[in-house]
Amino acid sequence: MRIHEIVEKYDAEIATVVNHNDWVRARAREIDLDNELHLAEHLNEIMVYARELYRFAGVSSNNIYWNLTHIPIRTMYIPTENGFVTIINPKILKSEGKAFNSVEGCGSIPGNVYTVKRKPHISFSGYTLEKKYIELECGSKDYEAGEDPVLSSYNAKACVVQHEMDHLDGVTIKDKGTLFDLSSLMK
Ligand SMILES: [Zn+2]
Repeated sequence: MRIHEIVEKYDAEIATVVNHNDWVRARAREIDLDNELHLAEHLNEIMVYARELYRFAGVSSNNIYWNLTHIPIRTMYIPTENGFVTIINPKILKSEGKAFNSVEGCGSIPGNVYTVKRKPHISFSGYTLEKKYIELECGSKDYEAGEDPVLSSYNAKACVVQHEMDHLDGVTIKDKGTLFDLSSLMK
């Protein structure tokens, strides 16, 4: 991993359970949109950069360790139908459909992949960097996953949002999932 590139440019680094366990496990705090928007703006710049650099599916504040705040802030950078957006103080409004097994990796837990139960459709709200309240949804309510856990991860955007929302609560795929045996794919 080219971790120092992000350190040099932003004085921030990828938070991992190995090096920044407390940060990864912290419950991110909401920010005051009137007085702390600059924090989200700065974090947004780093998240955009880190996502491209490491090819992450999404990024949360808990993935980026820095010294500007004592704990992560409730901000995530996620894929939507209209491209990636940064959402501040997000809240899950509804998760719907039949839960299925999603196979996921995590930039904060290098090397391992986990099977995690996810809902195929999710509605959530939050604020944009322009302080605009928005409600978004992604996935498909009637999605029926097959037996194959890898193919069933097709519902990716809904899973990424749930993955990043979990991060903001200090929860990782290691906590709620089961270790997926990558060698099983070779058989
Ligand atoms: Zn992650």
